[in-house]
Amino acid sequence: MGIASSVHQTFIDRLTEKLGSTAVLTEASDLEGALVETRGLYRGQALALVRPKDRDEVAFVMQECARAGIPVVPQGGNTGLVGGGVPGGGIVLSLARLDRVRSLDPLNATITVEAGCILKAVQEAADRAGYLFPLSLASEGSCRIGGNLATNAGGTAVLRYGNMRELTLGLEVVLADGRVWNGLKGLRKDNTGYDLKDLFVGSEGTLGIITAAVLKLFPKPQARVTAFVGCASAEIALRLFHTLREAAGDQLTAFEYIPDFGLEIVLKHRPGAVRPLAGRHRSYALIELSSPQKDSGLQERLEALLGDALEQGVIEDATLGSSEAQSLALWHLRESLSEVQRLEGGSIKHDVAVPVSQVAAFIDEATGACEAAMPGIRVCAFGHFGDGNIHFNLSQPMDMDKGVFLAAWERFNRIVHDIVHRMNGSIAAEHGVGLIKRGELLRYKDPVAIDLMRTLKRSLDPQNLLNPGKVIGSDDATTAISSLAAHS
Ligand SMILES: Cc1cc2nc3c(=O)[nH]c(=O)nc-3n(C[C@H](O)[C@H](O)[C@H](O)COP(=O)(O)OP(=O)(O)OC[C@H]3O[C@@H](n4cnc5c(N)ncnc54)[C@H](O)[C@@H]3O)c2cc1C
Repeated sequence: MGIASSVHQTFIDRLTEKLGSTAVLTEASDLEGALVETRGLYRGQALALVRPKDRDEVAFVMQECARAGIPVVPQGGNTGLVGGGVPGGGIVLSLARLDRVRSLDPLNATITVEAGCILKAVQEAADRAGYLFPLSLASEGSCRIGGNLATNAGGTAVLRYGNMRELTLGLEVVLADGRVWNGLKGLRKDNTGYDLKDLFVGSEGTLGIITAAVLKLFPKPQARVTAFVGCASAEIALRLFHTLREAAGDQLTAFEYIPDFGLEIVLKHRPGAVRPLAGRHRSYALIELSSPQKDSGLQERLEALLGDALEQGVIEDATLGSSEAQSLALWHLRESLSEVQRLEGGSIKHDVAVPVSQVAAFIDEATGACEAAMPGIRVCAFGHFGDGNIHFNLSQPMDMDKGVFLAAWERFNRIVHDIVHRMNGSIAAEHGVGLIKRGELLRYKDPVAIDLMRTLKRSLDPQNLLNPGKVIGSDDATTAISSLAAHS
């Protein structure tokens, strides 16, 4: 046995002695699911999958890792889309067993939950108590709160309620040396120096292991109305967004954008999907208004607003989901987009954000530039228009080989990200940086910001044990990770 493997064995033995053999798994079959990213883009390696049951066990594991110099990759539901949870050696630390709702304070409108709680379970716990926890993602049945925090997750209700950072009041974090920072405060005001929780939210496991959080709750909506609108351009959609925002304020809960190509492929591939409007339009908006009051007159209000927009020739057509089933069917069209795009061959994806005022100009300019760069390319720019967050996805030309198309990924990164950068936007809006956007981050982020991030990383994790190589890390830490299907 070499020195390294004897250190590793002693390390595994110490963990097993403390946590029990069912919490320290080293068989290849037990590790398999933890080594691969959700879309199969990357495969990594690990010594063990470690499954502590509570915060103190997480702290013990981190102390042992620091002592033995073993890297740690935290994992929640492993639904991340940027390769952030793939291990390049060391251990995978699963938070799945930390799944208790610790408390719910109705008067403070907060819920305190452990990092391993599945997002849907937190929504349900809030619902049972008569409240809304508004974070909502298509992966909500499997992603976990720690992962949502570490990626600062977004979703469809950010427009009204904010992303995970805005939904979080306090955190509990185990640091790289095993110390526990107890920041579990449910305070709306706390000006006692630097806001440490904001350092950890969005840090993708590179600064600490989040073990619990205090999250904000909201009154449950008692009335909800959905509309599907057809219009002539993204610019018109932006005008409509502005009008609705002015008229409905916080009642405007979602404003999602779907291009004609997107709707057509949903109708082509989704069994049972029904064309929502009689004709075709260049751009569509899926709009939701909601209110905590039952008799809020939402439906009449939206009808009147859209009626005016139709009369003035701003929009071309609109329909309201007048029942729960109709609303769900409209949402289903939007939620099917990522899935059906896979059936149209290779796709090159960009998850970007620009100021809301620039979102239509961005869609138009980036679409034109990509179409000019590759005739026949099919642009599917959709998503959270009201947040300025567009999933700017490109489907391959019909007659092109998928591999040839995907080899152009870097070229299209440059075209799209240069425009985003010029518009003062972000190249990573809601999915994070992980492995996939490390190079792009270094290219576009302000050098002083990169320097500050590195200083923070060195200060909080001097041995570089926490998710090494991710976000601002170097390639050296990730040589054991293979890229399987080059962004397919
Ligand atoms: C179908 C589908 C739809 C999606 N839709 C959206 C969407 O609308 N909006 C959106 O934002 N994302 C979306 N995602 C991406 C993904 O679900 C989110 O990024 C989610 O927040 C990840 O949670 P997770 O528990 O799966 O984290 P994981 O994938 O396990 O981990 C993600 C990152 O966080 C780190 N991490 C995990 N737990 C902890 C912890 N306790 N402490 C410190 N670091 C930790 C990991 O190391 C990794 O870097 C979608 C994914 C899928 C598959």
